[in-house]
Amino acid sequence: MAEAIIIDGKEFSSNLRNKIAKDVETLKKERNVVPGLAVILVGEDPASRIYVRKKEEMTEAVGMNSLSYRLDADASQQELLDLIQTLNNDPAVHGILVQLPLPKHIDTPTILEAIDPAKDVDGFHVVNAGLLAIGKPTLVPCTPAGCMMLLENNLGSLQGKHALVIGRSTIVGRPMAQLLLTADCTVTVAHRHTKNLEELCRQADIVVAAVGIPHFVKASWLKPGAVVIDVGINRIPAEDPAAKAAGKTRIVGDVDFAEAVKVASAITPVPGGVGPMTIACLLNNTIQAARNLTPVS
Ligand code: NAP
Repeated sequence: MAEAIIIDGKEFSSNLRNKIAKDVETLKKERNVVPGLAVILVGEDPASRIYVRKKEEMTEAVGMNSLSYRLDADASQQELLDLIQTLNNDPAVHGILVQLPLPKHIDTPTILEAIDPAKDVDGFHVVNAGLLAIGKPTLVPCTPAGCMMLLENNLGSLQGKHALVIGRSTIVGRPMAQLLLTADCTVTVAHRHTKNLEELCRQADIVVAAVGIPHFVKASWLKPGAVVIDVGINRIPAEDPAAKAAGKTRIVGDVDFAEAVKVASAITPVPGGVGPMTIACLLNNTIQAARNLTPVS
C-alpha cells in the first residue's frame, strides 16, 4: 500500500490566515469595523506567555486589533471578572480570550461563563457548547474546528463515515465528536474506561487522537486507508543520544506516526498538522464574532 498523504496543517493554516486578512479588509470597507481580539493573561506561566505572544502577533499580522491585558498571578477573581465585564461592554472588542490554565485561586468555569457568548472566540461558554450539542455550531472550540477543516479538505463530505474520537475533554474530544456528528458521521467516543479500543479503532474510517500519551495509537490498530488526525502534543526526550544526554526534547503526537503512515491514507504530522490550525481558527472565530456583532450599515 502507498504511504499516506501527509496533511500539511502549516500550509492550510497559512492559506486560511491569508483569507482572514482579506475578510478583515472587507469588514473595514463594508462595515467600517476593525475586528478586535482581547487576550487576557493572568500570571507568568512561561508556556502561556509564549502562546499569548503568538496569538497577539498573528492577530496583528492579519490586520486585526490585538488588545493585551496582563494581570498579576495574585490578581483576584473579582478583578478578572471586572475586566471581562468592561471588555464585554466595549464595542471595539469582538473576541475575548482568557488564557488557560488560570491560577488555582480563580474558578475557571465562573470566568468562562462571564464572557459574553457572542465574544467567546474560544467557544468554551456553555451557550456555545450547548449550541454545538444541538447541532447548531456557532463559535466552536478552535482545535476541533481546525481538525474538521483538515478532514473536509482531505475527504470532502464526511457523511456516513465511521469516526472514532479518542479523548472526551471539553476542549478537544467532546466538541470534535459533536462536529463529526453534525457532519453526518457515525461517531464513537473513547476514553480511559473504554473497552476493546483497538477493535473500535480497526472499524474507523476516521481516527482523531486527543489523549496526551506519546505514540498511544499503533499502526496495527488502524484500518488500512483510515484518515488519522493526531491532536496530541507530547514532549519526550530527544532521539539522538548526545542531545538526550544534554536534556534536549522533541515533540511527538498521540499516534505512532512512523508506522501509521504506512497504513493510513492520510495523516497529520506532529508538529505541523493540527497545531498550526488552532490559532488560525481563533482568528476565524474573531471574524465571525465581528460579523455577528456589527450589522452592515
Ligand atoms: P485531556 O483533557 O487530558 O484529555 C485527555 C483525554 O484522553 C481524556 O478524555 C481521557 O479520558 C483520555 N484518555 C487518557 N488515557 C486514555 C486511555 N488509556 N485510553 C483512552 N482514552 C484515554 O487532554 P486534551 O486537552 O483533550 O488534549 C489532548 C492532547 O491534545 C494533549 O496532548 C494536548 O497537548 C493536545 N492538544 C493539542 C492542541 C493543538 O492545538 N494541537 C490543543 C489542545 C490540546 P478520561 O476522560 O476518561 O480521563
